[in-house]
Amino acid sequence: MEELKARIIKEGKVIGSNVLKVDHFLNHQIDPHLMQEIGKTFAKAFKKKGITKIVTVESSGIAPAVMTGLFLNVPVIFARKKRSLTLSRGGLETEIYSYTKREKIHVFLADGMLKRDDRVLVIDDFLANGEAALGLTRLIEQAGAQLSGIGIVIEKSFQEGRKKLEALGCPIFSLARIASLQNGKVSFLEDVQKQTQINL
Ligand code: 5GP
Repeated sequence: MEELKARIIKEGKVIGSNVLKVDHFLNHQIDPHLMQEIGKTFAKAFKKKGITKIVTVESSGIAPAVMTGLFLNVPVIFARKKRSLTLSRGGLETEIYSYTKREKIHVFLADGMLKRDDRVLVIDDFLANGEAALGLTRLIEQAGAQLSGIGIVIEKSFQEGRKKLEALGCPIFSLARIASLQNGKVSFLEDVQKQTQINL
């Protein structure tokens, strides 16, 4: 998605060699117009998959997931990272390793949110090692629902996540795929591939 790539180049900050900070439009401040385009693009990509629900994890997945839900006209569920008053016991639960917090956390979904006949689209903000997305797919499996696709806003293709998700055998669609963050520079996968073809 060209508009997203342009925003990453303009506003993204590379931290170390593998973290991208995009706090001005995705992870802290949210740009509703960009989010709307993101939702539209995901909805277009998955419109033939018969999606009945979207699942994401709080908090940064919520904005792109809600916009996608709006355009697919389906409800959006976010897994909670803490039990709440209304989800004090029971429900579905799985453990994931949080990339940003560098610790294991538990994520929860209330019973009955997902039904066995639901066809579910997973949406998340980033794909790094795939832990968050895989955790969500485990919750979907526990509910007996069907995983029908995974949509990622920013994929760091140099990490292991994509490979792990591909093993699930469902369609995966990332709006921006980053080949490298070396030397503080963002290189997108398609640009690197094009460059390699030119040089062949
Ligand atoms: P994974 O579970 O795939 O290893 O990591 C995905 C989660 O970690 C995302 O939900 C996101 O919140 C966070 N994350 C991973 N890499 C980055 C990054 O480079 N930048 C930001 N802002 N978040 C990241």
